[in-house]
Amino acid sequence: MKIFCIGRNYADHAKEMNSPVPEKPMIFMKPSTALLANNNAFYYPEFSSNIHYEVEVILKVGKNGRHIDQKFANSYYDMIGLGIDFTARDVQAVCKEKGHPWEIAKSFDFSAVISREFIPKDQLNLDDLNFRLEKNGEIVQQSSTKHLIFKFDKLISYISTMFTLKMGDMIYTGTPAGVGPVQIGDVLKGYIEDQLMFECEIK
Ligand code: MG
Repeated sequence: MKIFCIGRNYADHAKEMNSPVPEKPMIFMKPSTALLANNNAFYYPEFSSNIHYEVEVILKVGKNGRHIDQKFANSYYDMIGLGIDFTARDVQAVCKEKGHPWEIAKSFDFSAVISREFIPKDQLNLDDLNFRLEKNGEIVQQSSTKHLIFKFDKLISYISTMFTLKMGDMIYTGTPAGVGPVQIGDVLKGYIEDQLMFECEIK
């Protein structure tokens, strides 16, 4: 399975990173070894001293396809989850400066928290889906999918012009403003509406 991630898909986050809002979806990928499932703890890696959380709504691809017309994109995902795109911000800054790829900052082992449960999309209002991240009981990120720059159907369609989508692939759809560092001992909890989707302790 493949994990696609979308960068800068909320204008307020692009702004906090001093990055321009992209004209097309910005895509990168994580390998399946990046997944951190079942509320397992995240162990702070040695190669970074500035790991940031980025809470993101996840689409689970429900059938195979390529060159999917946006009109039909809706039928290619049926389940919605929530996760974290952990980012080694210090490593990423060096990559950006040198014009290098981001993988070592974004795609390392256990950098992709994924909720155990996924919610059928027909139970949710995808045009205005509220989600949030709490760190040690305090809300640090909170937004709605109404603020997405590129909506889910556009992402499916665009990605599939270059990469065959396969059943079970995941798409992390981007993070809103409020990203920040984690420290050992922190506990992160992610919610869609008022449903607890994941919990992750930093060790
Ligand atoms: Mg992200």
